[in-house]
Amino acid sequence: QLRDNTVIVVFGASGDLAKKKTYPALFGLYRNGYLPRDVHIVGYARTKMDDKEYQKRTTAYIKNPNDDPEIAAKIEEFKKISTYVSGGYEDSPSFQNLAKHLQSIEKNYPSRETNRLFYLALPPSVFVPVATHTKECCYSSMGINRIIVEKPFGKDLDSCRELLSSLKQSWKEEETYRIDHYLGKEMVKNLLVLRFANVAMGAAWDKNSISNVQISFKEPFGTQGRGGYFDEFGIIRDVLQNHLLQVLSILTMERPVSFSSEDIRDEKVKVLRAIPPITKEDVLLGQYVAGNNEPGYLDDDTVPKDSVCPTFAATVLRINNERWEGVPFILKAGKALNEAKVEIRMQFKDVTQGIFKDISRNELVIRIQPSEAVYLKLNSKTPGYSFRAIPTEMDLTYKRRFTDTKIPEAYEALILDALKGDHSNFVRDDELDVAWKIFTPILHWIDGRAGPRPRPSPYPYGSRGPKELDSFIEKQGYKRPEADYSWPTTNLS
Ligand code: NAP
Ligand code: NAP
Repeated sequence: QLRDNTVIVVFGASGDLAKKKTYPALFGLYRNGYLPRDVHIVGYARTKMDDKEYQKRTTAYIKNPNDDPEIAAKIEEFKKISTYVSGGYEDSPSFQNLAKHLQSIEKNYPSRETNRLFYLALPPSVFVPVATHTKECCYSSMGINRIIVEKPFGKDLDSCRELLSSLKQSWKEEETYRIDHYLGKEMVKNLLVLRFANVAMGAAWDKNSISNVQISFKEPFGTQGRGGYFDEFGIIRDVLQNHLLQVLSILTMERPVSFSSEDIRDEKVKVLRAIPPITKEDVLLGQYVAGNNEPGYLDDDTVPKDSVCPTFAATVLRINNERWEGVPFILKAGKALNEAKVEIRMQFKDVTQGIFKDISRNELVIRIQPSEAVYLKLNSKTPGYSFRAIPTEMDLTYKRRFTDTKIPEAYEALILDALKGDHSNFVRDDELDVAWKIFTPILHWIDGRAGPRPRPSPYPYGSRGPKELDSFIEKQGYKRPEADYSWPTTNLS
């Protein structure tokens, strides 16, 4: 249920995330009538600017490629419900000033109920003071209060626990919404339906049918001059420990008792707890070097010249439960690779040999982005006089199947969930704890806490990753299809 009389406060409104994601998502919801009636948006940051400058900045990334007058008019309307307050993050008077601004908006509301959603689009160094001051000075005593926080939630198990416990001093778990924006992606949400609403899928979803699973994140560009931030974290903290592990938990959890957020999150935690910490034998690290006329990671001026920060990582996770025992789950992610793609690839076991020779394995591919699709690669008789099998597919391509449907941006879906009070697609505290337990030992090894720091293998910009990648994956049982598989280029993809 959306509540009337709601103000959304965006902290860090002058920043990158706010400009590129938060405000365009708020606009998307506003335009489609999904924000509460009488909603007001208040931006807050230290930068001094007037409302006009703020409105210009926060609408700069809202798309209107064909200059549609209807969208242009909506943007003007949207600007009118949005105001800005400048202030610090560490002092009470600034927050008292913000509280006054909120009251001046709320006094026009028809009832005394006032609901507030606080969105922290801020660097983690100020999460705690902002959360604390907000609770002290800006908490509504006449309605619902919610706080949205963005990753990074710590750098390892201890720092995550410390951050969570500091935030818990002022905000209860049920008021807290921790964003992992992968949980807002359409295909990730579809996993629950694909798995649990289809007997055919459910029957194949275990160690008896599946040989190995890859969850891959591939980005075709490097750090592009913003490597300073990245170098502190590396690809494992940036992508694997959060986004890909979230995908893994939904892919492998048991059937939840209901679709309620706690039932779903209970099952996710349960499966994550069955995964032992990753060992260094199960890791392949890479760092991109110059290639295809593009610079290497170390050529980025914001990166230390001797950095051994991995920009590529592949790790093998195992789930010690009855369903998945013995099935390797390969989580891999890299920057500056040959393509943009996030997908799950479940490779089935070999078919019984004898009547067939050199026959490809089935693969179920769930493409999360770009261009959502689910396809099952399967063997079929070559049409006509031949009896040979050829690899082909059963295909569900969203663009073709759902021609008129607009798929919401992940941030739109998540902000709407937070406004409705639905926690299903947000990360619970115990989920974070167990996620860090799985990755902390190898992160400490990579950070050099257990001896010399490992050196990542170089790979050229625009390649598929380090040269060791294929043998690393084959070692886990992955078999490249024997026969050539091709996808007709006339198809939408
Ligand atoms: P950002 O642009 O660096 O920071 C947001 C705002 O915070 C800045 O405009 C600045 O506002 C203030 N700020 C920056 N550094 C500060 C500091 N050291 N101390 C106090 N205030 C500071 O960050 P962002 O990229 O928007 O990201 C915000 C959060 O979202 C981060 O936790 C980030 O990890 C996460 N995130 C970002 C993205 C993305 O696409 N950018 C994606 C996923 C998650 P004022 O100086 O005006 O106060
Ligand atoms: P693919 O792109 O051929 O990749 C299949 C697997 O082989 C991936 O794990 C890939 O690894 C690996 N690989 C790729 N090149 C390799 C190489 N040179 N050496 C060793 N391993 C290699 O995917 P596919 O599923 O077979 O599909 C083929 C094409 O058809 C793709 O472009 C796909 O998008 C398209 N298709 C589209 C749809 C649709 O849109 N509905 C349906 C079916 C097929 P990495 O990814 O880790 O590099």
